[in-house]
Amino acid sequence: MKRLIVIAVTLLVCVTLESAAQEAPPDGLTLRQGDVRIVKIGEGVNASGVQGAIDTGGAPSPVPMFSKRGALYGIVAVDLYQQPGVYHLTVYEEATKRALSTRALIVEKGEFQKSISPHWNTQVFGQVDLARIAREKKEMAEALATSAPLPLWQDGTIYPIQKTDHTGLITTPFGQIRMNPAQDWYRFHRGTDFQAPQGFSIRAIAAGKVAHLGRDYLLEGNITVIDHGLGIFSSYLHQSAFLVKVGDEVKKGDVIGRVGSTGNSNAPHLHLALRIGGAVVDPIQFIEALR
Ligand SMILES: [Zn+2]
Repeated sequence: MKRLIVIAVTLLVCVTLESAAQEAPPDGLTLRQGDVRIVKIGEGVNASGVQGAIDTGGAPSPVPMFSKRGALYGIVAVDLYQQPGVYHLTVYEEATKRALSTRALIVEKGEFQKSISPHWNTQVFGQVDLARIAREKKEMAEALATSAPLPLWQDGTIYPIQKTDHTGLITTPFGQIRMNPAQDWYRFHRGTDFQAPQGFSIRAIAAGKVAHLGRDYLLEGNITVIDHGLGIFSSYLHQSAFLVKVGDEVKKGDVIGRVGSTGNSNAPHLHLALRIGGAVVDPIQFIEALR
């Protein structure tokens, strides 16, 4: 059976490689900074024993792969900070590390809303605060270092804030570029903000396991991180209350916390962030792609 799969993958790869050689990448992918795209890798291929990676010059970032109705798919994610350029998405055999297919991945600059205000970046952090931010960053990085080896999100996704007349609206989109005209400074908004009042229920966007609770972080406030497997993590910031603990298994739509305004926040709202294989990406694209 395994041999059959290998043959099937090899055949598919040969076809893919041949067509790639004939003309400029017909199966090349074009994505923008922060984009998430579900890409069909092939028919009749099983996800076990096969891995995908994007080479971006540094350490290759893994591509989560999953099977659905006999076909193999990859979740291709481009980091918000990825330099535009031509990269490669390679699918290889896990055991032998032999490349089965390679296709071009063209990364274009993202088109993001701009917010220009003299209020951005006016907060001054002292040594104590900077040390605290560094410590909290390290804790987060450690929590994100290991992920379940299987996809846990397979039954789809849901929005974290239920849509009503006064909740669930996106108040600040992913990627918004914040600039202070008086400074040589800008920063991307690294998640999506949802409108919701203090205490409103926050729902897990997909099934997973609670990987981390950050308590009263200086910037993120109370933050819950959920591992969805294969390096996919969702984070819920500025909460007023935690309703889960580390290690809890959650289902899609489970209430995991309450909306608040803890950390660096002016008013109650939910900031949802998503990482795939280390890449900071648009959570809405992920939710929509897997809904
Ligand atoms: Zn935000």
